[in-house]
Amino acid sequence: MKLNICHLYPDLLDLYGDRGNIITLTKRAQWRGIDTAVQRVSLGEPLDFADMDILFIGGGSDREQNILVEDLMKRKQELRAAIEDGLVVLAICGGYQLLGQYYQMGNGKKIPGLGFLDLWTEAGTKRLIGNVAVRLEKELQAQGEQLETAKRLNTLVGFENHSGKTYLGAAVQEIGQVLHGNGNNGKDGSEGVRYKNVFGTYLHGPLLPKNPNFADLLLSLAFKRSGQTENLAPLEDQLEILAHETMLERILSVH
Ligand code: GLN
Repeated sequence: MKLNICHLYPDLLDLYGDRGNIITLTKRAQWRGIDTAVQRVSLGEPLDFADMDILFIGGGSDREQNILVEDLMKRKQELRAAIEDGLVVLAICGGYQLLGQYYQMGNGKKIPGLGFLDLWTEAGTKRLIGNVAVRLEKELQAQGEQLETAKRLNTLVGFENHSGKTYLGAAVQEIGQVLHGNGNNGKDGSEGVRYKNVFGTYLHGPLLPKNPNFADLLLSLAFKRSGQTENLAPLEDQLEILAHETMLERILSVH
């Protein structure tokens, strides 16, 4: 199989090393002997969702979100169909906000979202900044258990910097609960969203290098969708696990 990854708006949405998520997915596939192709698509460029295994949308400032929203809306119907068909999507921060109903900026202006996910975002007066540790919700933990990874990690670590506060409606699920940090809104303890194979999160850093199990979860969902029945081969992952555990320990020790 060839793994087709699309990086949407890499020139506009790529905060805090978000591109590292693409590198991680690519490398983890290649280390297992799986061919990969990365398509970088920006404003006005053609994009075929039917030919895609993983879609990545990074984070950006309000300004960039404003610039690209018109272009994104033109792709709305096709993207919705692909999501309903199980396309694996990872959307970070600004990209995550755009999947929801709307993002209301600090000046009161609303940037419309794609409206696929039952969530909305409103800018607060205080930015939510710092390291975050998250305990994955049960279903994700259970899915992770089926992966033959070097070690089971039930947590995510990362860094957040957003003024938007995201609230989830009843039709979607959170990725997990924060052990430290603000997550979606700093109030209800939730972090991120999951709907089908779509994941939205506030975690930058980038997210995937220090969370190898989450990277493998995305890869395995993409493989399953393409009809592969074999499990992903385990990787050594000592360094990745050390990075994860060191950061987790540090985050929780300042708590
Ligand atoms: N504009 C958003 C906010 O500040 C997104 C920021 C980001 O992607 N880091 O809430």
